[in-house]
Amino acid sequence: MKTPAGLEVLVLLALVVAVLVGTTVYARRRSDGGGGRTVVRCREGHLYTTIWIPGVSFKSVRLGRYRWQYCPVGRHWTMVTPVQDDELTPRERELAAAHHDRRVP
Ligand SMILES: [Zn+2]
Repeated sequence: MKTPAGLEVLVLLALVVAVLVGTTVYARRRSDGGGGRTVVRCREGHLYTTIWIPGVSFKSVRLGRYRWQYCPVGRHWTMVTPVQDDELTPRERELAAAHHDRRVP
């Protein structure tokens, strides 16, 4: 027999699974489209393109919207944050496109 409390745990588990599946599908869809590539800006103001798949990261430490990772422009480890495309000037977009880090998320 399941107590109401047990039922709550089940609902919670179902929600967690749903979120995980949703995130995976979202990541897949992104990698099919733009390859999950996102323009990021480091704390020194350098712009470059990296792969930013929510919930998946092997080469950096995720801190919410910020990530601690290697900046190939300044060749240093730093905090980076994604930049919306419409926040970029054409010159900045060019700079970011010219710099890619390794293609490993
Ligand atoms: Zn930098």
